[in-house]
Amino acid sequence: FGKIQVLNPLVELDGDELTRVIWQDIKTRFIHPYLTIDLKYYDLGLPNRDATENAVVHEAGQAIKQYSVGVKCATISVDPTRVQEYNLKAAWPSPNIALRAAIGGTIFREPVIIPSIPRYVQGWKRPIIIGRHAFGDHTRAKERVMHGAGKLEMVFTPKGGKPETVEVVEFDDDGGVGLTMYNTRKSITDFAHSCFRYALSKRLPLFLSTKNTVLKTYDGLFVEIFEGLYEGGYRASFEDAGIEYEHRLIDDMVAYMIKSEGGMVMALKNYDGDIQSDIVAQGFGSLGLMTSILVSPDGRTFFTEAAHGTVTRHYREHLKGKETSTNPVASIFAWTRALMKRGELDGTPEVIAFAEKLEKACIDAIEIDGVMTKDLAYACGREDGWVVTRVYMEAVEKRLKGLLEE
Ligand code: NAD
Repeated sequence: FGKIQVLNPLVELDGDELTRVIWQDIKTRFIHPYLTIDLKYYDLGLPNRDATENAVVHEAGQAIKQYSVGVKCATISVDPTRVQEYNLKAAWPSPNIALRAAIGGTIFREPVIIPSIPRYVQGWKRPIIIGRHAFGDHTRAKERVMHGAGKLEMVFTPKGGKPETVEVVEFDDDGGVGLTMYNTRKSITDFAHSCFRYALSKRLPLFLSTKNTVLKTYDGLFVEIFEGLYEGGYRASFEDAGIEYEHRLIDDMVAYMIKSEGGMVMALKNYDGDIQSDIVAQGFGSLGLMTSILVSPDGRTFFTEAAHGTVTRHYREHLKGKETSTNPVASIFAWTRALMKRGELDGTPEVIAFAEKLEKACIDAIEIDGVMTKDLAYACGREDGWVVTRVYMEAVEKRLKGLLEE
């Protein structure tokens, strides 16, 4: 095959444990043999994050901003046991949080749909994509227990102005508990832009979902900002694309989502998005089929990854010299989705076509050849009909070669 030229660099963020092993294999089998590509490599594996005192994460974030597209392998989020295990200098913060902070924007989680793999929610035939507003609300709330009787108030002091007080509750002798949470107009606006742009790029309807019947002011601001941007600009492009934007109450939305056949983008507040993305991941089946993409508010910067972690349990088996049956599909799709974005931005349809063939090869190996990893075989009730990762990768490679020869 003649190699396909990728015009601009792709930022590659390496990671940890079993996904790092799979990552290398993906590059060797599916990237280097077919593409001439300038990969700007950043090693976000925990040993290198520790050696560089986390500087590599910040450098990677800057590189993604510079080159517009990044692809990331799963990484360990450090907890006290990892500090000991890796003998770390410090409990480094999660790279995903730092990258999100550097790029801004919204993470969209999208399942890979493979028709023959049964879904727990059987009616779902098309993807349900969750955009979670990963800023503010409960994640930045201040909370405390109030002991004994007293008045709880919320005070806002405008810059240079007089304090404005809202009375919340008068506690009796038993006291109680309270919290304040907030969001910013800027963050909600950025979130809305990312959601409108992503729905347009996918040509799928967008639903913002809140509880504005109860939180009339708080959730009301989300609804107002989305409406304002839709009416002020996005409506025309949505109509051209034959899609719609709508606000729905979260309880209606959840019922609709379960009954629907999928095929939508849901814009959800921080807490709702956290929960709904796990419900959707479970409903579609395996974590090994869930991808994720971060889109900046201006729609120009992206990074893709598998939604799952580093699959530590399988890595321990790998270290004992055993072959594992870990599903590489979401990691391969991180690469294909990043290549598609690169192709879109560079105006190189041949790069997009290659990425689409690689996705088809992954699906055909499962659908047509019946070759799959343990998680998928179990989902199909074929408890002994699974192969190790290497054998699945070989099946994908064979399919890919066939598709490229067509
Ligand atoms: P995990 O997603 O790695 O694994 C959880 C379980 O899901 C596994 O035991 C396995 O049964 C199953 N699973 C996940 N991916 C699979 C796949 N591709 N094929 C087959 N089965 C799969 O989550 P975890 O065990 O909670 O976390 C392991 C490490 O990953 C932790 O250090 C955590 O911090 C990190 N993590 C990273 C990210 C990220 O980089 N985006 C996300 C989640 C967790």
